Amino acid sequence: RAHHDTLTGLANRALFTLRLDALVASDGPAGDFAVLYIDLDRFKTVNDTLGHAAGDELLCQLADRLRLVTRACDTVARIGGDEFAIVATAAHAQAAAERVERTLRTPFDLAGSRRPVSASIGVAIGRADHASSGEVLREADLAAYAAKADPTTIWALFSPAMREAADRRLRLEADLDRAVDRCELRVVYQPIVDLPTGRMSGVEALVRWQHPELGLLYPDTFISIAEETGRIGEVDRWVMAEGLKQLERWDAEAGRSLGLSLSVNCSARDLHEPHFADQVRTLLAQGPDRAGRLVIEITESLLVDDPLRAVAVLEALHAEGVRFAMDDFGTGYSSLSVIHALPVDTVKIDRAFVQRMDEDEAAREMVRTVIGFARTLGTDIVAEGIETAEQRDALVEMGCDWGQGYLFDRPLPPSEISARIRAEAPPPAAAD
Ligand code: C2E
Ligand code: CA
Repeated sequence: RAHHDTLTGLANRALFTLRLDALVASDGPAGDFAVLYIDLDRFKTVNDTLGHAAGDELLCQLADRLRLVTRACDTVARIGGDEFAIVATAAHAQAAAERVERTLRTPFDLAGSRRPVSASIGVAIGRADHASSGEVLREADLAAYAAKADPTTIWALFSPAMREAADRRLRLEADLDRAVDRCELRVVYQPIVDLPTGRMSGVEALVRWQHPELGLLYPDTFISIAEETGRIGEVDRWVMAEGLKQLERWDAEAGRSLGLSLSVNCSARDLHEPHFADQVRTLLAQGPDRAGRLVIEITESLLVDDPLRAVAVLEALHAEGVRFAMDDFGTGYSSLSVIHALPVDTVKIDRAFVQRMDEDEAAREMVRTVIGFARTLGTDIVAEGIETAEQRDALVEMGCDWGQGYLFDRPLPPSEISARIRAEAPPPAAAD
């Protein structure tokens, strides 16, 4: 009993560790082993929505399936709440991973219905330089993490590059802690233009991190880390504060109100922070008509947890004059109903569609449809990632009014936006 999991009857973590330690310690052919680490996705959701009995049932069914797809000489263990591991021979590791993947493709019978369940599987092959079972398991865990990040596969084999990525991540995590205090973040601004004239109507603020040793880092290297470590709110609020001040600096330089809008990106996580709305209000109160110039870009993922709360936060700010844009439209589960349920003023067509427009009829149709939807709903449309004059012309012809992309400008530091403002003659309406 000390060596078995009472719920599933599989080996428990203690037995798994004993066997794996023995293999790690042995030289020669016995050292020819592999560990498969299997991590269920969203197991907590099963427990929360279907109840603990259904959660237990899932674990038992999975245990049965794992026994069926492994060989008698393999050790199949439940090593944590929703974590399983298999010790197999190195030669069979890949076949075992493929069999586990296949068995997971069949939905599970839970609480009277068939439910698909997904998992990530990491595989680590034993090496002579492994010092402990923990080290092997950690590699399998890192491989599972890599598999989770890759939408094309559910299993991955450990490679040293995964450890380097994890080490780099850990380092960035620690450094990010101090990046705001040490003023290492920067904001660059990408003009949003009126498509027919190319005139700038606003800017999107995009964050950069000037890391003292690693150089200039782009958001894709650190935003997800900031999200996971709970720092994203601080980063996003800093960008918002800086962007709002910058708008006022450009007005001051021009000696008039330029009427530019400021779009900022906002992670879904931000909206679930208890003081989000108050923090935004505090920033809005620090300058004239800031609410009317601010556009917060959101993605549909904000509706994943507690959508009612998120909608309430958006509506409160909307009532105070803040506008919202649905970012990356077309990539998620976006539907008319989503847009309809939210106070969205602008839809941003994802650059993936814009860039495929030239050669791909389906992408062109998608863009046309989104523009049609947006028209019906009365929202503005901004096309992202416009790189060619052909794309611009096609968008104008379809009735898209606004756009951004390298064809017009790259994201620019504030001084280059100033230069661009000076180059643009003041609009006729403001000429007096
Ligand atoms: P996004 O909101 O879709 O931002 C647009 C990205 O597309 C930017 O990349 C921009 O440089 C790039 N881009 C603009 N025009 C073109 C074009 O014509 N062609 C191509 N290939 N790319 C173009 P960037 O600055 O690396 O930002 C990546 C993502 O990081 C953003 O995607 C946004 O989701 C996120 N992000 C950026 N700043 C922040 C921030 O302050 N807070 C949060 N939460 N996320 C941010
Ligand atoms: Ca954006």
